[in-house]
Order: sequence, then C-alpha cells, then structure tokens
Amino acid sequence: MAIVKTPRNKMPEQDPIVRGHNFEEVALGYTKELAMAEAKRCMQCKNPLCMKGCPVSVRIPEFMKAVAEERFDDAGKIIKSTNSLPSVCGRVCPQEEQCEKLCLRARVDEPVSIGAVERFVGDYLLSKGVKEEKITPCGKRAAIVGSGPSALTCAAELAKRGVEVDIYEAFHKAGGVLTYGIPEFRLPKALVKNEIDSVLALGAKIHFNTVVGKTLLIDELTDKYDAVFIGSGAGLPSFMGVPGENLNGVFSANEYLTRVNLMGAYKPDCATPVMRGKNVAVIGAGNVAMDAARTALRMGAEHVSIIYRRGREEMPARKEEIHHAEQEGIEFKLLCNPVEMLGENGWVNKLRCVKMELGEPDASGRRRPVPIKGSEFEIDADMVIVALGTTPNPLIKDSCEKLATNPKGTLIVDEGMQTSIKNVYAGGDAVTGAATVILAMGAGRKASRTILDGFGITD
Ligand code: FAD
Ligand code: SF4
Repeated sequence: MAIVKTPRNKMPEQDPIVRGHNFEEVALGYTKELAMAEAKRCMQCKNPLCMKGCPVSVRIPEFMKAVAEERFDDAGKIIKSTNSLPSVCGRVCPQEEQCEKLCLRARVDEPVSIGAVERFVGDYLLSKGVKEEKITPCGKRAAIVGSGPSALTCAAELAKRGVEVDIYEAFHKAGGVLTYGIPEFRLPKALVKNEIDSVLALGAKIHFNTVVGKTLLIDELTDKYDAVFIGSGAGLPSFMGVPGENLNGVFSANEYLTRVNLMGAYKPDCATPVMRGKNVAVIGAGNVAMDAARTALRMGAEHVSIIYRRGREEMPARKEEIHHAEQEGIEFKLLCNPVEMLGENGWVNKLRCVKMELGEPDASGRRRPVPIKGSEFEIDADMVIVALGTTPNPLIKDSCEKLATNPKGTLIVDEGMQTSIKNVYAGGDAVTGAATVILAMGAGRKASRTILDGFGITD
C-alpha cells in the first residue's frame, strides 16, 4: 500500500522577538494530538535503521506504535528500559545526525520527529510524579564521581539492580552540564531536577560539595567500595592564547554560563550577578557558543555576534540552534579570527581580527582556515566570551598516579570502560573529551554493564 505523504508535525515555539528577552523554553513541546499524529508517521519498518543511529538503542518503532495507540505508559517503559533521561534527550540530542538521519520515512517525505515524540513521552512520565521504588539490595556498593549524564545513567543502572550507590559531586547541585551549562531556555532546570529525582528514587544517594581528588581521593573510594565510576566531564575551558585575553570583560563560556545557569544570575534577586555586556562578541560556533550568545542576548545585550574562523558549512553547532540564534538576531561574522583583544583601563573594548579563507581539508576533514595577509580589522566589543572547547580538569588524574591518561588529559579505558585501575571505571566527556549527552549516557550504561557482570548480576 502506498504511503501518503504527510509533512512532519512542527513543534510550536515562542515568538523569536519575545523569547530573545526571556529565559522561558523556546520549543514548547507537542500536545497529545500532535505527538500521536507524528508517531503515526512511523512506518514500523522491518529493519528500523533509526535504531542503528541511536547510541543507546532506544526501541524507536515500538515506542512510536505505543504513542500512536495512546499507550503512553507503555511508551515510557519502552524508552526507559534503555534511556533513563528521555525528557533531556528529547530536547538536546542531535537527532538530525543520529536516529532521524537514518529514518526511512525520509524516502517518502521527511524523517519522523523522533526527538519531539520522545520528549513528549518523557514529559508525560515526569508529569505523573516520581515514585520511590523498593529494590532488594544485592550487597554491593559503588561510588560515582560527578552527577552529569554519564554518572546519572551509571548510577541508575546500578541502583535498579540493588547496588548501594553513593554519588560524589563537586558542585552544590546535581546534573553536570545539564544544570550548569545548557541554559534554561533550552533545558528547563525543574525538568532536569525531576529527572535526577527519578534516579535518586531508585535509592542512590548524593553527596554535594565533594571534590574528588581533593576532599576525597580515588584510593579512599576503592578502599570503601566494590566499584568506582568516574564521570567528571571535561570542564576545563580552552583559551585562544592571544594578547589581551586576560582583560576584564573576557570570559570563558563555561564561567559565563555557570554564573547564569547554576548561580541564577539571570534572576533579579541573584546574590552573585554577572557582568551584562551591551556589545558582546562570542568566539566559536559550537553549541556552547550558541548558548552563550543567546544567553547574553537575554541578559540585555543590544548586539551579539558569533565570530568564527571557518564558514557556515563547518559550524559544529546543531542546525536547530544556529537557526534559533539567527531568528533571535544574533549576527554571524564568519571567516574571521581574533588575533588580539584590545582594552582601556583594564577592560576589553575591541577585538582585532583577521579575515580567513578556506584551504585544503585538515585532519578533522574540514577545510583549514588560512589568514589573509593584510586583512586585519577591528570590531567593538565590551564583553567577549570564548567558547573554543574544553578538556578534562586534571585534578583527579594528578591526585592518583595510577590513573592512565592520554596526552589530551582524557582517561584511558578498555572495552568495558575500566581504567588502568582495577574496579575503577570511567565514561563520558572525561574519556572522550567534550562530546554529547547521549554518548555520555551510553558510556555510563556500558560501564554499568561491566560492573554488574563483575558482581555476577547478569539480567
Ligand atoms: P558533565 O555533564 O560535564 O558532568 C560532570 C560532573 O562531574 C559535573 O557535575 C562536575 O561538577 C562533576 N565533577 C567534575 N570534577 C569533579 C570532581 N573532581 N569531583 C566530583 N565531581 C566532579 N550535548 C548534546 O548532546 N546536546 C547539546 O545540545 C549540548 N549542548 C551543550 C551546551 C553547553 C553549554 C555545554 C557545555 C555542553 C553541551 N553539550 C551538549 C555537551 C554535553 O552536555 C556533554 O557532552 C555531557 O554533559 C557530558 O556528560 P558527562 O556526564 O561526561 O559530564
Ligand atoms: Fe519509524 Fe523511521 Fe524508524 Fe522506520 S526508520 S521505524 S519510519 S522511525
């Protein structure tokens, strides 16, 4: 039977002019009717390629069928069996590069909006409230370092099987980048807290303000626990190394976003405010740069520009984030690179940039940006945010000689995610360098499998 062409159901969004001045969520989510209509577009393929694109192998056609038939609880169970944070993944996963990229419906008209339907199901589950679960203890104990997506996934998988889990987090709030990096308008914090509560409802305990490598050592953890998982992320920002970078008004995106998201600097009654620039330049073109630029706009900037040394095609941010940033009025200054930050009385006021052209592809496969001689020019900026990537903080490895790392500072693990120390596992950005939420979750899940195998728990 021929399949009738039906376009994707668009997710309603806040108007760009209005949303550029508030921190409320940009994408408003599907209604029940829209979610069911979109799920009905799934063709229930015999060989569902979409699943091959999902790093945690969510059973996509099965949950689509359940949504199409209004069996939302069933859909939730199917997703949760492999993905413990569906509301988060539905919002921030790069689906266009994963499941949706391989969706066979694209051959008829457009891929199914898998992420949007997953988000609907995740939010449906959270709207029902979190229930404590009674789980029989298995007699084993595990320590988890960090509380980002890799750590939370590993914690959830272990706790579900009766392992006594203690999470040690350096900050006073849980969630890692989900809480201190990705802004409220893309990932509401109340929702992240609900997802975390659903992990804690499995019996895991969390200890805040505990910096592993300083207040507690890996050796102390291995003495007390049967297994340790390190999910400490990649929170150390990289800088350009150009003159003037230490002027006042120059921030790393990490610091800026942490101050706004974690410390709540966007709230009028915040005790720890952050500088509010009028003319803000953001260097970089990844998701972090888009988040920093859109946050600066919402913090009252009159003009925000993204400065990137390559062209539009090479921008690493999600297409949706680039589109949203453009809709909100962020200016893109492409093929140019800052060579100096200029200032007056210790404060930045200009960027000296050079124009670039694209040469031959480099090791990353992208065309190498080459400076054009004599093309220097200046742009005004009273605030500069550097968003050029991050690496793991060396604190943990420096405090534990036996922990092997590669030259980029990422932890070395074997196939089962075990580090160079027996019974110490690691995953997420601490192993891969800055990557994605779903890859971090996949790593946490893989490590939990090896840990459970080691405990003789094989279900
Ligand atoms: P993290 O989320 O970094 O969590 C690490 C946790 O460990 C933190 O809570 C940290 O405080 C804690 N910690 C660190 N050191 C210690 C220590 N010594 N002791 C105790 N605790 C410690 N990915 C996407 O898929 N989609 C997106 O749209 C997206 N947008 C992003 C936007 C921003 C601004 C940023 C910064 C990242 C974004 N990412 C996105 C990337 C994604 O968030 C990360 O890849 C992911 O969060 C990594 O998870 P993780 O668990 O490895 O580490
Ligand atoms: Fe449905 Fe697309 Fe997966 Fe086929 S490939 S099962 S249409 S989501």
